[in-house]
Amino acid sequence: MLNGTFNYTPPSALTGSARDYRYPRGADLQARIEGFYKWQNLRRQHGLWPFSRSAEESPSPVTAARDDAGGHFRGVNFASEDYLNLASHPAIKQVAHEVIDQFGMHSAGTAAMLGATAHSVRLERRIADFLGAAEAILFPTGWAAAYGAIKGLVRPTDHVLMDALAHPSLKEGAASATKNIYLFRHNSVEECRRWLQKIRAKDVQNGVMVVTESLFALESDTPDLRALQALCHEFNATLLVDAAHDLGALGPAGKGALGDQDLLGKVDLVVGTFSKSFGSNGGFVACRSREAKEYLRFFSPSCAYSTTLSPIQAATAMKAFEIIESAEGQTLRDRLLGNIQGLRRSLIDAGFEVHGAPSGVVCVKIGAEGLARLVARRLPDAGLIANLVEFPDVPKGHARIRLQVMANHTDDNLGDAVTALATAHAAACEEFEWLTRERDKLRAHG
Ligand code: PMP
Repeated sequence: MLNGTFNYTPPSALTGSARDYRYPRGADLQARIEGFYKWQNLRRQHGLWPFSRSAEESPSPVTAARDDAGGHFRGVNFASEDYLNLASHPAIKQVAHEVIDQFGMHSAGTAAMLGATAHSVRLERRIADFLGAAEAILFPTGWAAAYGAIKGLVRPTDHVLMDALAHPSLKEGAASATKNIYLFRHNSVEECRRWLQKIRAKDVQNGVMVVTESLFALESDTPDLRALQALCHEFNATLLVDAAHDLGALGPAGKGALGDQDLLGKVDLVVGTFSKSFGSNGGFVACRSREAKEYLRFFSPSCAYSTTLSPIQAATAMKAFEIIESAEGQTLRDRLLGNIQGLRRSLIDAGFEVHGAPSGVVCVKIGAEGLARLVARRLPDAGLIANLVEFPDVPKGHARIRLQVMANHTDDNLGDAVTALATAHAAACEEFEWLTRERDKLRAHG
């Protein structure tokens, strides 16, 4: 205690970022990473490391969890990506039990080597039909699908043109495939066009892939996909759209921005995941031809050399498609959208600003990393489980609290979340101002 008001929090626990440890120097790979743990641990000791928590129950609207120091807490859960609450849907759990009896736990091979099962084969067909695509191919995760779609098709002399805010799985895929990577300003069709003109003025021999997402979670916004696909046709390029966050959960019949923009069956490559709306783990790429599917199966390393989805994952994702395409699915989506709109309204009424347009991810603007960490520290005691997002995942000074909405959240859950956030934010602001004053006094005294 410095003045009896707050426990003193050292400035170094409120500053710095994971980026500082991204490129450590030194010949010893193990020794040079210790700085990260030291910084992380300083934050942990002061209750400022809100990551790596473990859930004690299913991802339901109210849940229990532990922080990574073992501390137990319970609260309304806005930290799970299970938009339609299908992960613990009774019909999905029943399918999982039945499949275990018939197939056991494991697919026991890659898709080329008897890892495919009756369930995965049916699921690939269902995905293609859902998206109006000719074919679809499964990957072990959404990450593997995003990475693998790019790595599988792009060669070192090709070019990748991507939205500056594209997900790391897409950026890593591009970085492993070619050095010719160009980032265009977030959602700027104009800048994408200028790059395409520049690239095609010099090189008509090699391929160009344009990469974007149908819903950028942290910004909660969507590009003009129609315009991007048209550009790709004009410049002989291939469009890849990662539809992780809206497919199944938003848009007409759960078809997300692709459905909204009348692009079903018209986009070259669609990447997706089951981990957000389909109650399972796993990913896929939907494509325009059997040729593309077969090529990815054998040339995308994250498919060719990785064991296929377990039969349980494939069968539960299949059941999720069935629910999503049923009247129940529409009810869940309506409830989800109502919750999203209700939460955004209540947050704004409470004086907060939120990012973007309505989507399953509602990011509340906080600002300085230090302040956001102090807010996040108070959330568990206030009864809210939500994630902190800070630099380098978002720009410096634009830290935010990320609330993920689910169909089964009740009005009370939404109200509790806003009250908890407002209480935590008010107290954190007071502490942050006090800490800033103390720091300035210390500086003034040399
Ligand atoms: N793409 C995007 C846009 C994502 O947000 C994510 C998950 N956060 C992934 C890919 C990876 O999906 P998965 O969690 O299934 O690996």
